[in-house]
Amino acid sequence: MQRRGSIEVICGSMFSGKTEELLRRLKRAKIARQKVEIFKPAVDVRYSEEEVVSHDKNSIPSTPVEHSSNILLLSSEVEVVGIDEAQFFDKGLVDVCQQLADQGVRVIVAGLDMDFRRVPFGPMPALCAIADDVTKVHAVCVRCGRLANYSFRLVANDKQLMLGEMQEYQPLCRLCYNKEAKGER
Ligand SMILES: [Zn+2]
Repeated sequence: MQRRGSIEVICGSMFSGKTEELLRRLKRAKIARQKVEIFKPAVDVRYSEEEVVSHDKNSIPSTPVEHSSNILLLSSEVEVVGIDEAQFFDKGLVDVCQQLADQGVRVIVAGLDMDFRRVPFGPMPALCAIADDVTKVHAVCVRCGRLANYSFRLVANDKQLMLGEMQEYQPLCRLCYNKEAKGER
C-alpha cells in the first residue's frame, strides 16, 4: 500500500511551545512503531549536539545537518521526519519537504514564523504556504498576560540569527510590542 505523505507546520514566537508540540507528535508516531528521524540546523548548538531539546529539557535524539539537502540523503526508509528550528535552514528546505511528502513521508516542521523585527523568517512563510496543515502556537505576553505573537529582542543587535533565552528575548503581544518598540516603557 502506498503511504500518504504530508507536511505539517508548527509555527509561533519564542517560548510558544513549538518544540514541545513537535516532540508530542513525534513521540506518538514512535508509539505507533513508525520510523522517526529528527533533524535540526547545525547552527543550533545551545544545549546539545545530538538532541532536540526544548526549553523544558524534554528531549529526543536528533541529527544536526549543515544543509537542507542532507535531510533527503539521511531520510531513506523513514516514515516520519521531524525538523526543528526550521527558520535557520536554507530556502532549499521547502523543496526537500515537498519531495519527502511526495514520496509518502509525514513531515513535521517546527520553526519561528517571524524574526525579532516581525519579518517572516527564512523558509517558514513558504513552508506554511505548501503545508497540508499549519498550527500557530502562542506564548504568553510577559507584560500583560495576553497571548503573545512576537519575540521582542532585549539586547541591541541587528543580526537576524541570534540564539537566545529569556535574557535576550521576551514574548510580547501586539500592544506591548508596539509600546516597547516606541520606547514607552
Ligand atoms: Zn501584552
